[in-house]
Amino acid sequence: MATDTYTKPIIDGTATRPKVYKNFIDGEWVESSTGQTFENHNPADTRDVVGLFQKSGKADVDAAVQAAKQAYQKWRLVPAPRRAEIIYAAAEILLERKEEYSRGMTREMGKVLKETRGDVQEAIDCAYYMAGEGRRLFGPTTPSELPNKFAMAVRQPVGLCGMITPWNFPMAIPSWKLLPAIVSGNTCVIKSAQDTPLSTFNLVQALVDAGLPKGVINIVTGFGPEAGAPLVEHTDVRAISFTGSSAVGRTIGTTAAQTFKHCSLEMGGKNAMIVLDDANLDLAIEGGLWGAFGTTGQRCTATSRIIVQEGVYREFINRYVERAKKLKVGNGLDESVDMGPAINELQLKSDLNYIEIGKNEGAKLKTGGNRLDKGEYQYGWFLEPTVFADVDPKMRIAQEEIFGPVVAIMPCENLEHAIQISNDVQYGLSSSLYTKDVNKAFSAIRDLDAGITYINAPTIGAEVHLPFGGTKATGNGHREGGVGAIEFFSEWKAVYVDYSDRLQRAQIDRPE
Ligand code: ADP
Repeated sequence: MATDTYTKPIIDGTATRPKVYKNFIDGEWVESSTGQTFENHNPADTRDVVGLFQKSGKADVDAAVQAAKQAYQKWRLVPAPRRAEIIYAAAEILLERKEEYSRGMTREMGKVLKETRGDVQEAIDCAYYMAGEGRRLFGPTTPSELPNKFAMAVRQPVGLCGMITPWNFPMAIPSWKLLPAIVSGNTCVIKSAQDTPLSTFNLVQALVDAGLPKGVINIVTGFGPEAGAPLVEHTDVRAISFTGSSAVGRTIGTTAAQTFKHCSLEMGGKNAMIVLDDANLDLAIEGGLWGAFGTTGQRCTATSRIIVQEGVYREFINRYVERAKKLKVGNGLDESVDMGPAINELQLKSDLNYIEIGKNEGAKLKTGGNRLDKGEYQYGWFLEPTVFADVDPKMRIAQEEIFGPVVAIMPCENLEHAIQISNDVQYGLSSSLYTKDVNKAFSAIRDLDAGITYINAPTIGAEVHLPFGGTKATGNGHREGGVGAIEFFSEWKAVYVDYSDRLQRAQIDRPE
């Protein structure tokens, strides 16, 4: 693997030598034990190499775990409000560097600048929120059943936590995991996504500059089987927090269970937006475009199905398709662009494959469906925004997660029918309903089988202080965001203090 490739970036017209990023272990930048690196490409122009990153293996994971283990003995004793001050200071640093980090993220990931600014902002929001947690981490006190006895429950750190993250929210998702973990007193090893390691480095750099002690967070870069799996298998790791595909999540869950680790799995979605006859159609069309084509459809919460009531079905399709055709596809660093490229060739091929499947299944392709590879698009992984209509809910394009700019529109008779279609998939992450009828809205909030329901907004747009996660094949019952994250990264300890000066036996010595 070349380590000093010169690239010809399209971005600013100047040739740059890609920087080599090392693993971050025990506060030091170290090369991987394999001696190999891999290239982080700009998906809008693959000639542009964002950086070279370490292709790590088990020995690197072991070293990172050892560092985190050592750091844990000190970090767990640092008062939580002090831990929180470091996180708060990191938020301020991120704020200062927001533009630089957003641009770096668009370059490594492809999504448009306004979205990468949102991604960095989400890490900032998460940092402010988790900094506040440092002075909460509340636990209950409760009366004891016996006299002169005090009872309470306190939160303790879990210990050493492993994080495995995907590429679609390269800073936000690492922040959801790392920040609640460290404020709770844990130390961490993160294996970031191979397509977007830079943004994890930027997040951790802000924490280090804010005063994070060495070894509290360690970064190991590389690929899943070589660098992710050893982290999941490691007996010293007490918790694994994973976001990614359901297939990989299943393997991780099975492996983590062998050593009884806490294991949080955040996986796929096939999220539907319902539009009833009484909806504000302008709003629904606007929301449906943002939900389906934001982040090039590469969000686990993406609006990949739109279920429209018969009375407005044709009008919705016509107007929606007209708008979809006008979306500007291109390099996300251009502020006028609406939608960036797919993350990589594999994802693009998978999107195109699903488009073929949709056509063969008999869905009506209303717009899009083609790769864009001429002129300015020739070095990137671009695809047209794609809309299928008259989709049958049983079709594969209506059932399987595509993770691309492909939306399936289907009709429904009424709300009950729409909810049935919405729920009838293997996933249960996000859901949405457009209506002006408050009774229908509340029925839907009750009956949609998903971890998130939006009323009069599309299926995307989570805020950091609310629970994030889903039902069925989307997750395994945990929630990120809000106090759910603290819950996952802490271990409850029940404490009893008997000040009666005699033996009191619970359940046996019953006071009169
Ligand atoms: P995505 O399609 O979002 O990349 P993946 O589930 O393939 O979803 O990857 C999510 C993360 O899981 C990435 O960081 C990837 O390297 C990691 N990963 C993939 N396979 C494994 C594995 N067998 N063990 C541990 N981590 C893995």
